[in-house]
Amino acid sequence: MNLKDEISSWPSDKIQASHLDRLAAVYVRQSTLQQVSEHQESTRLQYGLANRAKALGWQPERVLIIDDDLGKSGSSVEGRVGFQRLVSEVGLNHVGLILGIEMSRLARSSKDWHQLLEICALFGTLIADLDGIYDPSHYNDRLLLGLKGSFSEIELHVLKQRMLQGRLNKAQRGELGFHLPIGYVRRPSGDICFDPDEQAQQVIRLIFRKFEELGTVHAVLRYLALHQIQLGVRALHGANKGELEWRRPSRSTLLSLLNHPAYTGAYTYGRKQIDPRKHKAGRPHTGLVVKPPEEWLVLIKNHHPAYISWEQYQQNRAQLKANQNRANERGNARQGRALLSGLVVCQRCGNRMSVQYHRRGAPRYVCRREAAEHGGPLCQCLSGDCLDEYVTEQVLAALKPAAIELSLSVAMQVEQNRYELDQLWKQRLERAKFEAERAGRHYRFIGVSI
Ligand SMILES: [Zn+2]
Repeated sequence: MNLKDEISSWPSDKIQASHLDRLAAVYVRQSTLQQVSEHQESTRLQYGLANRAKALGWQPERVLIIDDDLGKSGSSVEGRVGFQRLVSEVGLNHVGLILGIEMSRLARSSKDWHQLLEICALFGTLIADLDGIYDPSHYNDRLLLGLKGSFSEIELHVLKQRMLQGRLNKAQRGELGFHLPIGYVRRPSGDICFDPDEQAQQVIRLIFRKFEELGTVHAVLRYLALHQIQLGVRALHGANKGELEWRRPSRSTLLSLLNHPAYTGAYTYGRKQIDPRKHKAGRPHTGLVVKPPEEWLVLIKNHHPAYISWEQYQQNRAQLKANQNRANERGNARQGRALLSGLVVCQRCGNRMSVQYHRRGAPRYVCRREAAEHGGPLCQCLSGDCLDEYVTEQVLAALKPAAIELSLSVAMQVEQNRYELDQLWKQRLERAKFEAERAGRHYRFIGVSI
């Protein structure tokens, strides 16, 4: 495009001395970093706009280039410092003319665009793109600018829609790649299979079994810590990409492991969706909400080998939900001397009862939710000792016939536990032996070559 021909065709009768007194702001923007590197030409053209401003009569020192937004998406003003700066410069009456390649691309959201037009009209700022110069305070120009903004929003929408549809189609075939959870690897063919490292696999199985047995994430975590069991994680990035790294398990890792449907062999897409009401700029308000399985966009069962069954997965989730100590959940036993702390629910109001300890250490179950939350009276309370005694009696009576069976199964479980731990330690020992041998060979090799 010949810059000089373009400029000569611009009508310049809209430019007054009051415009020339103020700055000419050149706004340079490319939406993604990839575009920045690929469209050098376009960026060069945008910087060339500074020369246009000079040709239109602006002094070189009165030309302001705003390029803070290189590599930012235009779909919203959030995070785009340059655009905000542009708006505030206009609002401070510093700008006589704004130049850009396609001006409507300045702001891809209609809201931002019309806000800019409004401010420009108020402060008598002109807007110029490749096609001409517009005065937003003139009705005709305003109409045209508004249309340009709408078209550019439509363009963005169509692009986005096409991209989303493409992703969804791929996901419906189960081919859209995602980060595999620990315990799985992807073959070069794209198939997903168990981690070939036996120990890494076994730790995952152990975690699921332990959760089934112990019932809480915390208990599983304590068990793993006590026996110094680490998780085999495949590095996602860096020089060791794909290599196995042994990491200390954490609460959040265990939670995501128990919540991840991939362990049932299912392929899912759209498990987390954005709720615009919860979306705020920046973390942690990403607006991502985990949806129940019925609302997932894609769910393909038996897509790859499974660690647990689908039923087991649902049971785990139900258990996790019940563990939350909310009034309407069953809850899980808490610490303290009282037998039923965290488990007693008030019959009168349905709230969970809390435990109070006397100075002598005797527990008392109190329903004080109403009092604590709404300043109402205490609902009811009862002595802990007599309730604990009663429940213990009932439990023992119920267990008596099955006592022998129970102790047998406990013994078997202990045996199984011991075997599992033994296996894990053996594998660790083997690994250490192998590492030592390799280091030895390496050392001898260096010795020879010197
Ligand atoms: Zn109550």
